[in-house]
Amino acid sequence: MTTTRFWSGLDTIGGNIVEIKTDKARVICDFGLAVADNTTNPLNSDSELENAILANMLPAIPELYDTKGFKVLSLNTLSESSIDTAVFISHLHLDHMGGLRFLPEEITVYMDKESYKLYQILIKVNEDLPVSCKVKPLSAGQQVEIGDIIVTPHLSDHDAKGTCALFIETPDLKIIHSGDFRLDGQHPDRVLDWAEKANKWGAEVLLIEGTTFSFEESEEIEEESAEPADKVVYTESTLLSALKELLEEDKEQLIAFNPYIRNVERLKQIDEVVLQSRRTMVWEEAYAAVLDEFYPGYKWTVLEDTCSGSSGLESSADYVSIETIRQDPENFVLQNSLKNIDFLRGFGNGLYLHSNGEPLGDYDPRYQTMLDFLEDEGLTFVPFGASGHATKEDLLKVAKTVSAELTVPWHTFSPEAFYDALVDEGLSSFLPEYNQTYSFPNLIRQHS
Ligand SMILES: [Zn+2]
Repeated sequence: MTTTRFWSGLDTIGGNIVEIKTDKARVICDFGLAVADNTTNPLNSDSELENAILANMLPAIPELYDTKGFKVLSLNTLSESSIDTAVFISHLHLDHMGGLRFLPEEITVYMDKESYKLYQILIKVNEDLPVSCKVKPLSAGQQVEIGDIIVTPHLSDHDAKGTCALFIETPDLKIIHSGDFRLDGQHPDRVLDWAEKANKWGAEVLLIEGTTFSFEESEEIEEESAEPADKVVYTESTLLSALKELLEEDKEQLIAFNPYIRNVERLKQIDEVVLQSRRTMVWEEAYAAVLDEFYPGYKWTVLEDTCSGSSGLESSADYVSIETIRQDPENFVLQNSLKNIDFLRGFGNGLYLHSNGEPLGDYDPRYQTMLDFLEDEGLTFVPFGASGHATKEDLLKVAKTVSAELTVPWHTFSPEAFYDALVDEGLSSFLPEYNQTYSFPNLIRQHS
């Protein structure tokens, strides 16, 4: 009999972890950290793993970690497990994979090949940390057998390269982990495609993300808006039109741009839009290296002051210094990540387009620090993001398309609101709890 246990991510947006287990095997889907920072805290000792578990950054899953060095916690170590365990990652955001560095080398982690490629280059340019576990790339549609569990990834769409939904089949259960998704990005067809496949496949349980149900009002998607600037929410494509317009306004000032390095498609499209203008798009070296990995054969303009010389970019890059940009700011759009914000000193004026780069939102204490810095420097903060998450309506549309026997909302601050909406649509829903092991085959029998 298949059992399912939710280890984290039920009523929050971070740290999704679910376990699907049979007598012979165990599959764990996503392995995010509840506190997502993956560049400043490498795993240097046994106690760091134990501390992360004690601090509730990671769940205390038995027979998964190497717990032999633990001093306080009593938790069975991986070698005591008699069944195969594998971890599958839906996409490369820290709330879905930030915990990988805590897994031992005996664990194999599978992810889509685009995610894999992104992961390798992020580690190379110090935008993520190396891991001990084995990471293996998968192609969409490729089946992996872990004991008697078969997992198949299907391409989806989210603001991270290589995002997949995961179809999981055990001898008595067909269950789907949606991962994060949206229908207003560049690839809505991928999402609708897996949803229809799921329906034909006869999915019994759909674990569906519900980020946008966290908020009272459905966020409005607007092309041209009379709303104040901080109310505008773009899609990936309206964001590009807005940038085009801004570049045409042709003000004699710097435009700084803070995107998220893992949204590689947006980086490339921004580069293309700026190329059509009289300005030059300037990238930090790490961002240019990621772009070059996915889009080889192009020339990137790189901010000389961020060069380490180890990116291997030399032949595909032109270099510009921050001093040159200070002299003629109106000729450039400068990508700027938080750790390099000091480069924006001394311009006196300009626009700062915040495009889902870190700090992501005002829950991060660094957000206010960033706003204060911009104000001191005379730079105007412009919200310039596009959401990676489906609207409430689109979440329901996908749930209805799949029409699983049970639709289980999670990855939201308001699972109850999502539950009510699903039931209103005529779908059977279920709100799981922590510290419970569920038999979905039995639950489905009870519901029908
Ligand atoms: Zn997420």
